[in-house]
Amino acid sequence: MMNNEEKVKILADLVAIQSVNDHEVTVAEYLIDLFKAHSIEAKMIKLTDTRANLVAEIGQGAPVIGVSGHMDVVSAGDKSNWTSDPFQLTERDGNLYGRGSADMKSGLAALVIAMIEIHEQKLLKKGTIRLMATTGEEVGGQGAYHFYKDGFMKDVDALVIAEPSQDTIIYSHKGSMDARIQSKGKAAHSSMPQLGYNAIDPLIEFVHEANNFFRTTDKTNQILGDLVMNTTIFQGGNQVNSIPEEAMLEMNIRTIPEFDNDEVAKDLEKLVAEQNKNGAKLTLDIYMSLPSVLAAKESKLSTLAAKLGQEHLNQEIQTAASPGVTDASNFLRDKSADFPFIMFGPGETKMAHQVDEYVNKDVYLKFIDLYVDLLTGYVGE
Ligand SMILES: [Zn+2]
Repeated sequence: MMNNEEKVKILADLVAIQSVNDHEVTVAEYLIDLFKAHSIEAKMIKLTDTRANLVAEIGQGAPVIGVSGHMDVVSAGDKSNWTSDPFQLTERDGNLYGRGSADMKSGLAALVIAMIEIHEQKLLKKGTIRLMATTGEEVGGQGAYHFYKDGFMKDVDALVIAEPSQDTIIYSHKGSMDARIQSKGKAAHSSMPQLGYNAIDPLIEFVHEANNFFRTTDKTNQILGDLVMNTTIFQGGNQVNSIPEEAMLEMNIRTIPEFDNDEVAKDLEKLVAEQNKNGAKLTLDIYMSLPSVLAAKESKLSTLAAKLGQEHLNQEIQTAASPGVTDASNFLRDKSADFPFIMFGPGETKMAHQVDEYVNKDVYLKFIDLYVDLLTGYVGE
């Protein structure tokens, strides 16, 4: 049995690896050694020289429960704003501070340690627990997409993602799309605009049309609410007395099943085509597209997790939908709407990406025991 110091040490080691939107290979190497020391085989799946997924499995046969955490973290920003070094896990008042302490190296560590304990104490009577630790969750979700594409989800019967959400079980969330629209014009002196073509004008028209179209739809989802679209970047021109020959905008769209990514893509193409019919030269590039996830609110998985959450954490556990995306968008691409999925892990959701990010030490340790009971309880019955 690992003692509490050893469990905290593992989290400290993970936080010390600066896997800021890269270098997940180092995290994967660390976890492979840790698993190996407890006679569990784990495998790295490299995507590039520095980016990799990690897969580890205990038990055998059906049912299979998939568990996942991402190995990347977001930038610490200006380190001088932190009370202590963001990459040195530091305890103050019962909390463990550091980049990734909540989002989500504590969740990842808790899953790994739970698997080690289940394995060493032979607690799994049947079924399989498969850890799929991902690369690049914070930007694009490439890691989870590769797991899905390579068939790792085919035999999986339920999925737990250990993102920080210690008081609420998230069972559904919106999708997310990033699109870039480039406008090509023709430069001319601004005193003679008829000799050129203003690249900014059709983009402004486009934004008006898109706002009007996407924000007046009556399509809605009872749980997730409305589709949300925003133009978040707008650039163009480089000299005040020149007609701009280039302009571009980027937008982010949060999708729902009733107004999904495919439909949004078609509508964007249509809106672009309308401008181009009037002489504009707009090109559309949808460079990220993660579908929404709509799992059952009441599943065997969510019910068991809520019961165990109440027992271990001694608090009321809510069940809710979230506006943010997770790797589940990619993992569950071809699963049906009633597929058992929960996001439930140590740390408060609001701590993610913050300066002085922390996880409560007790909550981290309790989640290890909670996962032992949840994973064995779900597949072992
Ligand atoms: Zn996260």
